[in-house]
Amino acid sequence: MIKHKNTQHRYNLPNDVKYCTKCTISNQRPRITFDDNGVCAACQYSEFKKTKINWNKRNKELELLCNKYRKDDGSYDVIVPSSGGKDSAYVAYQLKYKYGMNPLTVTWSPHLWTKDGFDNFQNHLHIGGFDNVLGTPNGKVHRKLTKISFEILGDPFQPFIYGQTHYPMHMALKYNVSLIMYGENGEVEYGGNMKNAFKPTRDWKRDHTEHYFSGLAPEDLREYGISQNDLLPYMAPDNKELDNLGLDIHFFGYYKKWVPQELYYHAVEHTGFRARYARNEGTYSKYASFDDKIDGFHYYLSYIKFGIARATADTAHEIRDGHITREEGISLIRRFDGEFPNEYFKVFLEYCDITEEYYHQIIDSWRSPHLWDKQNGIWQLKKPIWKENI
Ligand SMILES: [Zn+2]
Repeated sequence: MIKHKNTQHRYNLPNDVKYCTKCTISNQRPRITFDDNGVCAACQYSEFKKTKINWNKRNKELELLCNKYRKDDGSYDVIVPSSGGKDSAYVAYQLKYKYGMNPLTVTWSPHLWTKDGFDNFQNHLHIGGFDNVLGTPNGKVHRKLTKISFEILGDPFQPFIYGQTHYPMHMALKYNVSLIMYGENGEVEYGGNMKNAFKPTRDWKRDHTEHYFSGLAPEDLREYGISQNDLLPYMAPDNKELDNLGLDIHFFGYYKKWVPQELYYHAVEHTGFRARYARNEGTYSKYASFDDKIDGFHYYLSYIKFGIARATADTAHEIRDGHITREEGISLIRRFDGEFPNEYFKVFLEYCDITEEYYHQIIDSWRSPHLWDKQNGIWQLKKPIWKENI
């Protein structure tokens, strides 16, 4: 019997599930806050973005930043962490062709590339025209870490997130590049800790473990029998070295209005991006997060732990961006949210070397009784959004 994880306590989730009155996100998203009118922080920020931000001024700020770091000796002057997806392709393209920077795109390999994902990765280099460094971790170690993360964090995606966060820093040191430019600040755009909402930068010394690593840094995995050598590619470089480099991490979403659907059109036009052949499981969209066969399991665990799956996340930002109404969002959630990731289920079990039965035991250990109820042998969310007023 696997010990129950007490998800509610771990993530400090409110007992009563409440949904934002404007979008579809609930108060179960970790760190999100709601105002007195029941509007979530992401919707408040979205409103602020539409009405209060002077984008011309922000553009000037970006020009000044680029002027500060631009080099003219042929060496790289900015690192763009990149999966080859629409977001990073947009950032790299803008920096190179509009702002005259010399970016190096840096890619931390997915667990297991999908064909569509790998094609887009190649296209962003061949059609977009960028230099790239690809970091691919030791596959055996990565599988072990994925299994451990699935078991103890309820997120098999964590080893990818370690590398995605730290590998660009290692490359910044290696290539002597002081500026790293990410896309959007997910905490701010999609609801979370808003303390950085009005800052362009990421506080790489303080925020990482708390926001990105579910409270567990890579070095903590030593106690699960992973050696220091094997963990090294996942760990942050030495803070002193980064200080000496003068590392500065910025979000492009601070300088440019971040509208995912528009980034998709931009990437199709300029960097050869192609949407997935069909919608992603668990949602209706087909232009985001499909380069890794493990993606679906990350979203499915979010559904189990927080009752928030992929269609909820997609509809929430599309409502904020004015592409769909809240009612349309709710019916899309009802139709797609929490759909089981069947397409790569066998692949996932094999990758983690676990049985189907063990998989479900782990999944169930993350279900919180304040969210889930078993009726006639079937797990049901107690208060899905279409029953919000009951
Ligand atoms: Zn909202």
